[in-house]
This record gives sequence, C-alpha cells and structure tokens, in this order.
Amino acid sequence: MTSQATSKLRDLDRRHHLHPFTNHRRMFAGPAGGARIIESADGAHITDSDGKHYLDFMAGLWCVNIGYGRAELAEVARAQTLQLPYYNSFFQTAQVPAVQLAEALAEVTPPQYTRAFFGCTGSDANDTIVRLARYFWQAQGRPQREVIISRRNAYHGSTMAGASLGGMEKMHEQGGLPIPGIAHIEQPYYFGRGDKYADLSEDDFGVAMAQTLADKIEELGAEHVAAFIAEPIQGAGGVIIPPPTYWPAIQRICKQYDILLIVDEVICGFGRTGQWFGSDTFGIDGDLMTLAKGLSSGYQPVSAVMVSERVASVLDSHDDEFSHGYTYSGHPVACAVARENLRILRDENIIDNAREQAGGDLRDALQQLASHPLVGEARCCGFIGALELVADKTSGRRFAPPGAAGRLCRDACFDNGLVMRAVGDTMVLSPPLIIRRPAIDEFTTKAQAALDHTQRELAR
Ligand SMILES: *Cc1c(COP(=O)(O)O)cnc(C)c1O
Repeated sequence: MTSQATSKLRDLDRRHHLHPFTNHRRMFAGPAGGARIIESADGAHITDSDGKHYLDFMAGLWCVNIGYGRAELAEVARAQTLQLPYYNSFFQTAQVPAVQLAEALAEVTPPQYTRAFFGCTGSDANDTIVRLARYFWQAQGRPQREVIISRRNAYHGSTMAGASLGGMEKMHEQGGLPIPGIAHIEQPYYFGRGDKYADLSEDDFGVAMAQTLADKIEELGAEHVAAFIAEPIQGAGGVIIPPPTYWPAIQRICKQYDILLIVDEVICGFGRTGQWFGSDTFGIDGDLMTLAKGLSSGYQPVSAVMVSERVASVLDSHDDEFSHGYTYSGHPVACAVARENLRILRDENIIDNAREQAGGDLRDALQQLASHPLVGEARCCGFIGALELVADKTSGRRFAPPGAAGRLCRDACFDNGLVMRAVGDTMVLSPPLIIRRPAIDEFTTKAQAALDHTQRELAR
C-alpha cells in the first residue's frame, strides 16, 4: 500500500472506527496520528501497510497457534461456504461440521468432557457457562446454589457476564459490574505477592492462595455456591503461572464442597502450555471448560463450552429446555475451519514438536533476558511467558506508578519489528507454536534491544 493510501485509511479509521481496548486520545496523539494498519501475514510474521515486518510474539491475541497463511483453512472455508454457508442448530437440528467438530473436541479434551456447546467468542462461551452452571443446580432443585467464585485480575471476556467473572477493576468501574452473584478471591501471583506473604515459600504460597477459595465458600455458605472458575495460567492478567501446589489444593476444595470447577482454557488450550490443554499440564479435573482463540487458530470466530458427563447427564434427564443459544452456535464454516485446524495440530504433531524443539530454546532465551538490569523475573510454561520489569533488580521493587515502563518497552519492540504486549510493567508473550530457532534468536536480539532502549529512556 502506498503511504498516501495508508494515510487515507488511517484517516477513515479515525473518523469511523471505534476500537476495542484502545485509548483513542493517546492513539490519535501518537507518532502515526492513528492506528497501525496490518495488511498481511505469513508464518510467525505480520506486515504493516508500510511494508514493515514484525515477528508476532503474541500470535495475534494469543490465538494464531498454527501460524498465519495456512491455505488448507481457506480451502475448507470456501468449500463449506458453497456447500452450506449457514444453518442453525436450534430446535432438534444439526449440520455436518458442528457434529464433526464436537466429536473431534470430545476426542482431544480430557475424558470427562463428552459434549460441546458452540458460540463465537470466549466471552459468549463464559456467558453460556454462567447460565449453564446455575441451570445445573436449578434442575436438581438447588436454585440457591448461584454464586460463581472467580479471582482478582482474572480475564474471562468483555460481555456483562464475562467482565463480571473477570477480576479487572477498570472493567468493573465501567458499566456497574460485576453483576449479582459473582465473588472474587486472591490470585496465585508469587512474584507480586507483596509484604503480607513475603516470607512464604512458593509452595506454601500456592496452598495459602487456594485456601482463600475455601474461606470464601465458608463465608458465603457452600449451599449458595455454584462453581469456581479459573484460567490454568492467567493470561491477560500478566501470565501468572501458579505454584505447583495450587491446582491440587483447588481441586480438593471443589470436591470437598461439591462445587463445579470451570476451567477457562481460552488461552491455555490447543498447545499453548506444551500439552493439548492447561488441564493436562496441571492435572486439572474440571466439570466445564471454555474454549476459543486457538480452537480455530483465530481463522474464524468460534468458541465452545466443553461439558462433562456429570453436567450433561443432568441436562439430558431434565424434562425442560436450556433456553439459551446463539444464531451462530455451531456455525458450519467456523466449525469446519476449526476442525481442519485441529487436524493440522494433530497430523503435524505441532504440540509435541513445539514442546520438544522450541520449548527449551524459548526457556533459554528468557533466561538470557532475565539477566537484563530491568528484568526482575522471567517465566514461561510451554509457549506462554512473561518478563517482569522492575525499578530495582536486587530488591524486586516495582515502578510507581506502574505502566510507563511497560508502554515504553512495548513501543520499542514495535519500532524494532517485534510484537510483545505490556500488562502494566509485565511484558507478556505467546508466540505461534510453529516458531523454530531462527525466530527465537530474532526474538532475543530484538527484545534485548527494546529493553536497552527502555532503560535509556527511563534514565532520562
Ligand atoms: C480472550 C479470553 C476470553 C474472551 O474471549 P473473546 O473471544 O475475546 O471473547 C475469555 N477467557 C480468556 C482466558 C481469554 O484469554
């Protein structure tokens, strides 16, 4: 695209397009005077309208797991569009791609999950889950089991229910959230644990944070609690990898109080943590599971709620309908593309190869960056990771107020042709699973340069 065409488009964008999660005033005041326009992509790289290439170490928004430019997915979408572009799954009807995707998901997910309920986004899948978890108890004559417990700083989407489940204060402030019947507990964030827990070992901290769930259940009364929801690793909250003691303790507490365990696998699913699901990596035995993002590698908007036999059997035996669904639940084109994505992940052994070949290299790269004076901690699990930027490396003291260092570093990454995202002063990364050594070396060099630049700017 010519620079003239780019500025025309940027001008139209500015006049007519309202962006999600964007400070518009800051965007208009930025050096480009508007949005960065991405025009094409291939493998792990994206290209903007000026022809500049970037290594996309976020896989879009944590979703393009098989990488960009896979023609098979385009062909499947074209063929399905011609054969049957749309039909619904309401009122005792189904179409081929939805059934086939449901079967494929039952096969790759942990064995208790036998059924899939489809939607278009992770947010709407979590809305479905709020209604489904409450309906599960209603159908058994326990309508007072209504509260869903989540965690501070969790991310479960942007709809009214999704943002309410989420623990983002800024999101709650806008729009009068959370909706009733949602409670929040602490997150297992060891690096950010603060003075109160400073003396605890990582293992003890994991147990202490799980105990906040038991405390909350006791406070509310177990007879009022429907479920607990959590991401195996908190993604948008800053890639918070729980201590190894955390999930086993959570599991015990959910069993003890007989509440449903909901695992939001929207980021962790489809290989991100080095296994098919975060549930596999952490040994989580859930009742409901949220899937989106990597389900289609972002090629189509599609999500699924995986339903365990425990929940499905209650619905099956209840003489009533679950009054819920979306026009595009089980959309044929989206389901066909998602199934082809699963086929590629499986047939090309992408998850195993990623874990073995590149996983170690990524860990080494982060370890190398961990010695940078700005980095207080580097962590990763499979293909999701974070670099914590700190004001003082020895004491681990954070920047106050937070955010400026992260923004500087993120912008420096962009200028260097690297996409990393900043969550406050935590740099997060989630590359496509197909990256190999050359891309990891490119990442290390560019991230190092961005950190150096950030340090120089902060010193001024
Ligand atoms: C992105 C995300 C969602 C929301 O998915 P959308 O498709 O953006 O609605 C929900 N849960 C988690 C863990 C996510 O990362």
